[in-house]
Amino acid sequence: MTEVELKPDSGTNDEIENDNHKVKLDHAIFDADIHGQSANMVYLARIFSWLAPHKKLATVSVLLVVAASFIAVLLPVLISRVVIDNIIIGQADLVMPDFGLNSLMTWLASATGLDPIIAACILYGLLTVLCHTFYHLHRVTFAKAILHALRDMRLDLFRHMEYRPSSFYDKVAVGRVMTRITNDVQALFELLMGLGMLIGEFVPFFIALFIMLAIDVRLTMYLLIAIPIFAVITYFFRMGTRRVYRLIRNTVSQLNQNLQENLSGMQVVQLSNRERKNLSVYRVINQKNQKHEIEAIYLETGYGAFMDNMVNMALAVILWFGGGAVIQDTISLGSVILFTQFIDMFIRPIRVLGMQYNILFRAMASAERIFQALDWHEQVREPVKPAKLPDRISGKLEFRHLSFGYEEQDVLHDVSFTINPGEKLAVVGPTGSGKSTLIRLLGRFYDFENGTIFLDDNDLNSIPSSEVRKRIGVVLQDFHIFSGSILDNIMLGNPGITRQKAMDAARLVNADKFIEALPQGYDTRLVERGQNLSQGERQLLAFARVLAADPEILILDEATASIDTETEQIIQQALKQIMQDRTSILIAHRLQTIAEADRVLVLKNGRVKELGTHEELMAQKGVYYTLNRLQFQDISINP
Ligand code: ADP
Repeated sequence: MTEVELKPDSGTNDEIENDNHKVKLDHAIFDADIHGQSANMVYLARIFSWLAPHKKLATVSVLLVVAASFIAVLLPVLISRVVIDNIIIGQADLVMPDFGLNSLMTWLASATGLDPIIAACILYGLLTVLCHTFYHLHRVTFAKAILHALRDMRLDLFRHMEYRPSSFYDKVAVGRVMTRITNDVQALFELLMGLGMLIGEFVPFFIALFIMLAIDVRLTMYLLIAIPIFAVITYFFRMGTRRVYRLIRNTVSQLNQNLQENLSGMQVVQLSNRERKNLSVYRVINQKNQKHEIEAIYLETGYGAFMDNMVNMALAVILWFGGGAVIQDTISLGSVILFTQFIDMFIRPIRVLGMQYNILFRAMASAERIFQALDWHEQVREPVKPAKLPDRISGKLEFRHLSFGYEEQDVLHDVSFTINPGEKLAVVGPTGSGKSTLIRLLGRFYDFENGTIFLDDNDLNSIPSSEVRKRIGVVLQDFHIFSGSILDNIMLGNPGITRQKAMDAARLVNADKFIEALPQGYDTRLVERGQNLSQGERQLLAFARVLAADPEILILDEATASIDTETEQIIQQALKQIMQDRTSILIAHRLQTIAEADRVLVLKNGRVKELGTHEELMAQKGVYYTLNRLQFQDISINP
């Protein structure tokens, strides 16, 4: 046996790299529901690594929100310090900061000859417009930077998932993986947007705090005492809502799953009279969902009302102490008004932080799943020094002492046989005997270690998997349809296949008649899962696809579904056409197909039991003879 040096993929996870397929990976995480996660700095740093290429945009955006927040604080200062204290009352206390607003107003009034109050109003208008313009630009640029980053992340995930081998998809539920990828990336979007929002809340908080301390330390302290109280209440409230929101999410996903199962299996539901039963199951989940939604509304509105009350209480405290100070002339009226206007800026960051709390935890769980997926480096191993194949190979195949198992248990045992160039071999055997496994190994969908397969005397493991798949065309039982036209589905984006070549292939397998009868002929779009095509038509399209690709070796996993005699005739004709001058392995379920083969290989419990021509095997009166009697007794064979 030739020794071939194999390398695992170029991933970075050493543990997996060194022993590619022996490491037990926790695939269950992909399927799991979202549970709470603590804030993880490593995850955050990793999320930010996708933002790195867009850091200029992100920085501009952060500067914009800082500028907007600063102006947002200036607006109440303008009202209280400039309009009330300076213009109306005329007692500007120059010690406290006014950020030059009084001077700016005076300059504007003298430059334009306007009344100071009108100049102040114009200034207010200009600052308002500037503030909202900055906020708007911040939101747009921030969203842009994040969306660019998440676009790249989604692409990385898709690319990564595309290169996972079949063995990976044996272990994870594909439908759920896909929804997870979409939802998890969305959760990160919410997280990052939330971080932008937090900057927009905390900047005004600190500027307001600075101004308040400059005006009156004691009054500021009264407000600061309230903050830890608000924070603790918000924390406990959010802990409560986290549980309720999790229950809501679970019931929503159960509702969706239930709906999807019932709608896609509607015919079975109706045939088995399960409508009432299913309705009652749906009703129970629906009821639960409503209960939790109402719970959430109680909590949210209760919290909202409590916080609003607290804000008003704080206002009362300011009026009490501040009002007294104004009467005693130790503080200006404008300053007290400024304090009342700042209360909201004090409370909002805590509220927003509370809102972001749940999002942060959910996003951490999402990030964990995304990174787990990206860290799975299972891959079909590729040769370090790939063998060079000529443009056209003869198509000789040899299996030598091949043994294989998916998990612990062996499915194939010491399988050895040879197929000569251009020969057609039918593989038969009971269900579960390992026929499909044999072709999966040949298509390099799984790695195998025990035994060798030779393609034109080259070890299959020394040929890159993409090259193997160019040489070996596989027609699977289920013809997978991609959204697109009939032609797209024949060409599959292969640049070597022209429109004409695809149409010729369709004609050669007799698919042209039904295609031309379709409304847009070859350009007819195929609906999801090809439900607008019959079983026979799908089979013909699958043949056209493989014929257009023109591989040297053909593998056919024949569809087991029964079709009418007329269609069967057309399919057998087409089959003859695609097998012409091509080494072929046919996993045969029909006697007609076996009749097309030169030899028959009988597989049982993963072992080669018999190999020979139909006549030889019938004469042996062994497994093939029995299978033949059992399966095909009512059909006569005309080889
Ligand atoms: P056949 O095509 O002859 O019906 P298969 O090759 O599909 O047989 O299956 C052979 C055995 O391998 C069966 O016992 C089956 O349960 C098992 N098997 C098939 N596919 C997988 C898989 N992806 N993971 C684990 N076991 C599998």
